[in-house]
Amino acid sequence: MQHYDFAIVGAGYAGSVLAERLASQSGKKVLVLDKRPHIGGNAYDYYNEDGILIHLYGPHIFHTNSADVFSYLSNFTEWRPYEHRVLASVEGQLLPIPINLDTVNKLYGKNFTSEELADYFKTVGEPVENIKTSEDVVVSQVGRDLYEKFFKNYTKKQWGVYPSELDKSVTSRIPTRTNQDDRYFSDEFQAMPLHGFTKMFEKMVDHPNITLMLSTDFKDVKDSLSYDQLIYTGPVDEYFDHCYGKLPYRSLHFEHKTLNEEWHQPVAVVNYPNDHAYTRITEYKHLTGQEHPTKTSITFEYPQAEGDPYYPVPMPENAELYRKYKQLADQQDNVHFVGRLGTYRYYNMDQVVAQALTLYKKLVGADSLADVA
Ligand code: FAD
Repeated sequence: MQHYDFAIVGAGYAGSVLAERLASQSGKKVLVLDKRPHIGGNAYDYYNEDGILIHLYGPHIFHTNSADVFSYLSNFTEWRPYEHRVLASVEGQLLPIPINLDTVNKLYGKNFTSEELADYFKTVGEPVENIKTSEDVVVSQVGRDLYEKFFKNYTKKQWGVYPSELDKSVTSRIPTRTNQDDRYFSDEFQAMPLHGFTKMFEKMVDHPNITLMLSTDFKDVKDSLSYDQLIYTGPVDEYFDHCYGKLPYRSLHFEHKTLNEEWHQPVAVVNYPNDHAYTRITEYKHLTGQEHPTKTSITFEYPQAEGDPYYPVPMPENAELYRKYKQLADQQDNVHFVGRLGTYRYYNMDQVVAQALTLYKKLVGADSLADVA
């Protein structure tokens, strides 16, 4: 039986970054397992039967403020500059989200300047003494009407609960602007991998010290593997056989379609806060820059409770349950939990890369992220 220095469960960002660093920088023999038939985790993309590059698990847009993370990933891909823009379909109009000057002027038929909009927000914003929930964040900034039109029902569809029941972190991710900046993100680095995410992952794990075992569930093979240390990026509660009960995750059903038209919508993502069972429609050619004169591929997202675990649900009782699993995790010798599912955190791709590099730093005793990226 082949012996490995590290077995890594999951070939998404967390698993692939650690495999790459351990194999190429530390000369370790690494086995990477994934129960899916492909690498890349939720960021996996592929060319569909019509030759259009799509994201199997919904749109992934890369953005970060970390020069270390951007420079690390640049070892494996060139980039296509891309700034993400989203419109929300509200009362028959497509309006910029995050809410900005144009959103408010178009919705209410006003002609506010930035200063006037800031004053307007002060008059409609509801004072909240102690901001705890996602509703508190929005109503305190932009008032109840905008909250109800853009956030309340979207959040209910997405998470199955109203923003008043969700931790403030969910809506805090979305800024409010009084200028005309209509970019979804304001990070310093915003770009898409030029040839797609999967090509970037292929380069990461292409190393003689890395063995890939796809379509393999760790549970089914764990007793037959030989390794010194385990890195686990699957759901932490599953690792412990749900001994304290199941951590809630929100799931999604994706409906992928190709249409016989060049373009379907003006931007990559259109949100539907108040109509339809789906939350949003993504049109990939906007994201990837791919050209096709007669076809375009889109995805509808339907949130659901059951299915693949995508989003840890940020509610106080879930954080409490996770704390119990974390205590167990910390007691394991030579087992490291990392990634969105392994640490039950609503992390973006760049945050998972940073978390994985931080674990690598700890494993090799380096001083700073820049030393290991
Ligand atoms: P994952 O990518 O989930 O990888 C974990 C892997 O472990 C999976 O491939 C899984 O199959 C495998 N696994 C689990 N259990 C086992 C087991 N028992 N045996 C074997 N394998 C196992 N982030 C952004 O920065 N920008 C975005 O625009 C963005 N959009 C998103 C849209 C959606 C719909 C979703 C769901 C997420 C989005 N994210 C986005 C977040 C991003 O997907 C994650 O931050 C990132 O993919 C997490 O990487 P990971 O390695 O932690 O987990």
